[in-house]
Amino acid sequence: MEGELYVRLGYTMDALYRSITRHLAYSLGVVPTQASKRDIYLALSYSVRDRLLEKMLKTNQRYEDSGAKRLYYLSMEFLIGRSLANNLRAMKIYDQVAEALQLLGTDVETICDQERDAALGNGGLGRLAACFLDSMASLDMPGFGYGLHYDYGLFEQDISNGYQREKPDSWISEAPALQVERADAACIVPMYGRIEETKDKWGRHNPLWLGWNLVTGVPYDIPIAGYGGLTVNRLRLFAARPSTEFDIKIFNEGDYLRAVEQKIESEKISKILYPKDSYEAGRELRLIQEYFLVACSLNDIVRTYEKDYSDFNKFPEKVAIQLNDTHPALAVAELMRILVDQKWVPWERAWDITNRTIAYTNHTLLPEALEKWPESLLARLLPRHLQFIYDINQQFLDRVVTLWPGDVDRMRNMSIMEEGPPRQVRMANLAIVGAHSVNGVSALHTDLIKKSLAPNFFEMWPERFNNKTNGITPRRWLCVANPNLHDLIEDAIGPGFVTDLERLRELEPFAEDPAFCEKFMQVKHGNKERLKDVIFNTTVVEVDPASLFDVQVKRIHEYKRQLMNVLGIIWEYLALTEDGVEPVSPKTFIFAGKAAPGYWAAKQLIKLIHNVGNTIEDDPRARDFLKVAFAPNFRVTLAEQIIPAADISQQISTAGFEASGTGNMKFALNGALTIGTMDGANIEISQKVGRENIYICGLTAYEIEKMKRAGSYKPKAMYDKHPMIKRVVDSLASDRFCPRESGLFAWLKDYLLADNEMFFHLADLESYVKTRELSTQEYVDKTLWAKKAILNVARVGHFSSDRTIRQYAEEIWDLVAIPPTEAEKSGKLKYTPSDPSSIATARAW
Ligand SMILES: *Cc1c(COP(=O)(O)O)cnc(C)c1O
Repeated sequence: MEGELYVRLGYTMDALYRSITRHLAYSLGVVPTQASKRDIYLALSYSVRDRLLEKMLKTNQRYEDSGAKRLYYLSMEFLIGRSLANNLRAMKIYDQVAEALQLLGTDVETICDQERDAALGNGGLGRLAACFLDSMASLDMPGFGYGLHYDYGLFEQDISNGYQREKPDSWISEAPALQVERADAACIVPMYGRIEETKDKWGRHNPLWLGWNLVTGVPYDIPIAGYGGLTVNRLRLFAARPSTEFDIKIFNEGDYLRAVEQKIESEKISKILYPKDSYEAGRELRLIQEYFLVACSLNDIVRTYEKDYSDFNKFPEKVAIQLNDTHPALAVAELMRILVDQKWVPWERAWDITNRTIAYTNHTLLPEALEKWPESLLARLLPRHLQFIYDINQQFLDRVVTLWPGDVDRMRNMSIMEEGPPRQVRMANLAIVGAHSVNGVSALHTDLIKKSLAPNFFEMWPERFNNKTNGITPRRWLCVANPNLHDLIEDAIGPGFVTDLERLRELEPFAEDPAFCEKFMQVKHGNKERLKDVIFNTTVVEVDPASLFDVQVKRIHEYKRQLMNVLGIIWEYLALTEDGVEPVSPKTFIFAGKAAPGYWAAKQLIKLIHNVGNTIEDDPRARDFLKVAFAPNFRVTLAEQIIPAADISQQISTAGFEASGTGNMKFALNGALTIGTMDGANIEISQKVGRENIYICGLTAYEIEKMKRAGSYKPKAMYDKHPMIKRVVDSLASDRFCPRESGLFAWLKDYLLADNEMFFHLADLESYVKTRELSTQEYVDKTLWAKKAILNVARVGHFSSDRTIRQYAEEIWDLVAIPPTEAEKSGKLKYTPSDPSSIATARAW
């Protein structure tokens, strides 16, 4: 049956070969004998797209027939990476394609390697959105992503003399092979203008928003294939284009050049992804981007709803909107504006609909990352929205006063408006007031939201707050990134675990099976060999796959404490070279990560990592035992190459700062052991894998909080008391790591010894180094190590994003799966009707 189905679906090797060669000729105009790798990559991508689009149309039909509720995931970022290999795995045609490509004289890895990353995100938040799309499609859920179609994704990172250099990432110049432009679904977005306070025909107050500028939002759809390939959802990305419709008037008025200039301006909106992991204040264009996303998305959502319903009573039963952080929080005001101003829904009723539709995910507790926008800017850009925000706030504060009469501090704290100067709109408060659900992304993080970020809101609406611990998709982070480990697991426990990751538990007995342990370690070694080549090709460093691979890859940020890792490396280096301590195992420290272009301290850390690596490499006493490699241009594809090769995963953020982390989950799933602080999801990972299978170090969030409040952190005293801490810190102040750039790292000594050092590096350093020593000792006991690594794999099934999405669907969205019909499953449902008269009838309008 399987074979027959593949024939019907066009999934046989033959059909795929024909499709690729047909696209070579008719889409690209080349003959197979002269096709470049890139031509073949494109022809294969178009062949995949044909099949995905057909499934997407069928999926959409199925959703429409069911009348099911839909979920819209609004996010400024989708960090997708490459798509081709992922789609081949999802459609289960990887092997057939490999064969077909052999007939063309090439191989599937080479061709998949031609694709560039879609880097439409900064890091964890954007990657989470991408994992969620994968899970919603794999669970047959009507869940759709809405984002921006940036011309330029996250910058590319070059390293020159140890310093980061940024290069633009011109994503669209390569016209993503999977996307489909949907000019038919374009929408028009008003901005700027003024309010005219008029009265309607019944004499009621009726403010009119007039004199706006118009920008067109053109959607591009990217098909998102669920595992199994039958459910294909879409990610819709909006690009800003000059509006054509109404501007003729301006042209006619004469100022031709100014009108053209204004048009060029509007294209700026979707030009570039802002390269900051956390929010950057004050950039008008960033606020315009956020509004543009919200306006385009809600236009599309409302239009889709109105195809089936003539009033808005059922809106919250048919539509759920999830806000990925506060970036799209203007959705609260925009939905109100649409309902009240355009659809004539009474204010109170509109508020009820809005509140029941929208839900908000908080991603950070960092005060500097909480979005605020000047009232004056909103008054200029979105005068009508600001009025809605005032009204929402007034109604909300009236309730606060009723509940807590006379509590002025509470009012000031909870108000959506922050008193100035300048007066600002607090986006988190707007999101919390406007949403029926506010969730954190790990148990600890949700607890901190309730207790420190928004205790007053929690007191008012305890039922609104809930936790949804993050997850990762096992399709990309196991099947695609680590196919050999996937196959080994499948040999052991049989198929099916990829969509039911808790089944990895069945691996537990194999942790005691010497033959399995041996094969497991062989897979790891193969991945380390592969990474050795990647590192050698992108740096000058030659690493030894027999050494312990100790890995920290993520955005470079003070709170993630790459600096503490470096202090640990210096500690080991000094012990080895000056104290004659015998090395337990050769170790390779692997770093990767981008620093925001304006983040000086983070960029200095990149330089420090390089310089410490060079100093060690130049020292014959150390170079055979310690090695440091910084792999440039961290992105999803590099993560897929690094993570499967890691022995140790470093997750050492200052407790209370990492909302969840998802890198930690990817590593554990690929059999690395974690050295981590009790932060974010590390806590839950340690509970799942067992305290004996993870290396926990450092202070807890509670202990840090207590020290902060008491002002009792005295790093200088630790430095004075502990000779090794003193030596490590002093080595930074000396020119030991910067012989040619004297004084380069001297600032780090002052930084680390300041009482107000926010991230408690020295407080955790000793505990951290001790824990690292323990892990190195255990690493050389191969039986023990294999056992612990396998138990990590076996016990992290909980961190599948499928589990996360099921929880969102049940507890927030009230969303159900709409699985493929029998006709779809048998491949018998033909999308294209063959009878022309029936098409003509259906299209008659
Ligand atoms: C998973 C991932 C991240 C997030 O990593 P954390 O360790 O959770 O900060 C960032 N960037 C990329 C490319 C990723 O794949």
